[in-house]
Amino acid sequence: MKADRDLIIIGGGPAGLSAAQYGARGNLSVLVIEEMATGGQALLIDDLENYPGFPEPIKGFDISQKMEQQAANFGAEITYASVSSVKKEGDIFIVKTDREELKALSVIIATGAQHRNLEIPGEKEFTGRGVSYCATCDGPFFKDQKMLVVGGGDAACDEAMYLSNLTDKVIMIHRRDRFRAQKALAERVLKNPHIEVRFNHEIKEITGSQKVEKVRLYKNNEDKEYEEDMAAVFVFIGSIPQVSMVSGVEGVKFDESGSIITDQRMETGIKGLYAAGDVRSTPFRQVVVAAGEGAIAAHSASQYIDELRGQAYK
Ligand code: NAP
Repeated sequence: MKADRDLIIIGGGPAGLSAAQYGARGNLSVLVIEEMATGGQALLIDDLENYPGFPEPIKGFDISQKMEQQAANFGAEITYASVSSVKKEGDIFIVKTDREELKALSVIIATGAQHRNLEIPGEKEFTGRGVSYCATCDGPFFKDQKMLVVGGGDAACDEAMYLSNLTDKVIMIHRRDRFRAQKALAERVLKNPHIEVRFNHEIKEITGSQKVEKVRLYKNNEDKEYEEDMAAVFVFIGSIPQVSMVSGVEGVKFDESGSIITDQRMETGIKGLYAAGDVRSTPFRQVVVAAGEGAIAAHSASQYIDELRGQAYK
């Protein structure tokens, strides 16, 4: 069996595109398989203000385009398909997509994570009609109206800050008595006069006729429920790693959140198979971390391929 490519990268977010750039620049033939649009979750970032080298905030969309261009400049190819499985036969990885079967010497999984749902009545029904998982995409529809943000992490705080530019009526609820988010960000939210933070609060139901009109909230430290008028509900309660293509594959291990465990070279329990970015069990999910992990994974893959070819520098 012969490989179609040296390296296949599944996922075209910051981790995948950085891996593609490093792999292609290292003279590997590289194919990125992306399901939707390159950029991944970074596309949703309104102002990315902590990526080194950009003292002025850059749009998530813009940096994604630049990363794609840079990878393409070095010769990486991108195709659009959904990957259903990855398995290794001998020294060849077989990557099955909804369109074809591709073979590679090494594979990097950089599929990222997808938003978690609240799983409460009204959430599904009103998604796209007031319930949203992206403030940049949908916030402007609710300008000057009352919006609810659910969550206590970095994403919820970032997005609440964004929404506070559109209305002075952002209500933010978190189920605990303090934020999980990084301190500086949490403090910015708490000081923002357009954001009213309510700790120890949960959302139980979203109601309305054609669109969101009301929410039922629960104050968990007082065991009290109440209803409130609301135009929109923005949900940022974490994310779920996208690992279905390797779930059940012997040798690939997962942590308690379902993220892929690797060693410091980003290698999974299978030689030649790597994971990088938000899909990986990692302590700090940031665009810069994903890009760094992509670079390490590509470097490791390149060394592995050299070994396979008997060209390793020892
Ligand atoms: P996260 O850090 O996992 O936070 C999720 C928040 O949602 C937690 O506060 C959690 O509450 C809450 N939550 C989870 N399930 C819930 C439920 N069913 N009902 C109500 N609340 C629920 O997720 P994230 O904010 O999406 O961030 C993901 C990763 O990306 C993190 O590593 C983060 O640092 C990173 N990130 C960074 C930035 C930035 O640096 N600007 C921006 C966005 C994301 P508990 O606290 O009670 O568990």
